[in-house]
Amino acid sequence: MGQDIPDIFTTRGLTKVYGTGPAAVHALRGVDLDIPRGEIVVLLGPSGSGKSTLLNILGGLDRATAGRATFLDQDLTAMSDRALTRYRRDHVGFVFQFYNLMPSLTARENVELVTEIAEDPMDVGAALRLVGLGERMDHFPAQMSGGEQQRVAIARAIAKTPTVLFCDEPTGALDSQTGRAVLHVLNDVNAKLGATVMIVTHAAATAAMAHRVIHFADGAIRSVETNATRLSPDQIEW
Ligand code: ADP
Repeated sequence: MGQDIPDIFTTRGLTKVYGTGPAAVHALRGVDLDIPRGEIVVLLGPSGSGKSTLLNILGGLDRATAGRATFLDQDLTAMSDRALTRYRRDHVGFVFQFYNLMPSLTARENVELVTEIAEDPMDVGAALRLVGLGERMDHFPAQMSGGEQQRVAIARAIAKTPTVLFCDEPTGALDSQTGRAVLHVLNDVNAKLGATVMIVTHAAATAAMAHRVIHFADGAIRSVETNATRLSPDQIEW
């Protein structure tokens, strides 16, 4: 029958309303999306256009008000809280603008917090080497630069071998050179581990390294482009 590989995420009429009555905020107004597995996807759009809301629903951190979102063949919108927690634990890594590392733990110990409870974890040293911190494993966050701390956060997120890595403004607090190093790591996570990587960013130049670029405006998708040629993070100017 020639069944295609299922998309990693599909949404239909995905709607999110925060609050009720005159105070209601329509964060997502019926989003239809198909995202193939194994891509780097960059989401661009003005502040408040719904990008983080979409990421949080696909990542199982928030629930839609209406519509449907599926992960492979699982309906995220119909899952129990328990199933959603299991989905997050087994399949999802998150990287945020601020690194949220435990200050009293070393880089290695921050990553171990995740590997100790993961089903199929990577070797902690391998995760830290992949982000270029093989020599800094025993440093504390305060002894590292912002870019290095973000790379520890990425090591922590990938150490559970997630199917998808969600990044919300991962370079938002970094200068361009350090930001580029972080994008390099995200590119490697996609190329070497095969994880789907979804990045919300204000840095529009990041779009050049993506397989797919989704433009948001006012809670809806305005356009989706695929890049025939992608740039390496080294070639990105911003
Ligand atoms: P973006 O990521 O594109 O900046 P968001 O998804 O964060 O946009 O926000 C979309 C809209 O939803 C904004 O108007 C924002 O203020 C609102 N919003 C987001 N989270 C909440 C929340 N927890 N409660 C109320 N409103 C929210």
